[in-house]
Amino acid sequence: MLKEINVKTNAKNQFIDITRDVQKEIQISGISDGLCFLFVPHTTAAITINENADISVSKDIINFLNKLVPFDDNYLHLEGNSSAHIKSVLIGCSETIAINFNKLVLGTWQGIFFCEFDGPRTRKVQIHIT
Ligand code: ZN
Repeated sequence: MLKEINVKTNAKNQFIDITRDVQKEIQISGISDGLCFLFVPHTTAAITINENADISVSKDIINFLNKLVPFDDNYLHLEGNSSAHIKSVLIGCSETIAINFNKLVLGTWQGIFFCEFDGPRTRKVQIHIT
């Protein structure tokens, strides 16, 4: 089963908590036990799982990534967004989460974040439920 959700970002670099949107699609699917495979079909965005209780954590991660991968660094790519491509490679474009009793099996403090590195844009996240 393949679903798709739209994610609207409003900053150049931004983490958006999509946990509830993904959980909603799992409830609609009616699948009690299985796997949820999430895929971001973009080259300047990513997806990750981390703490969603304190919003400062995702801000710290973004600040660290900005230090690690500067916006300007004599990149060859003419589009001018190489830092976004590199951040996407570092974080990755997929996650797999178990489904049990029709719910995502996540740790108490874990949430799923869509990671924008070249916004603002309207993005997509594919949700494959098996
Ligand atoms: Zn590019």
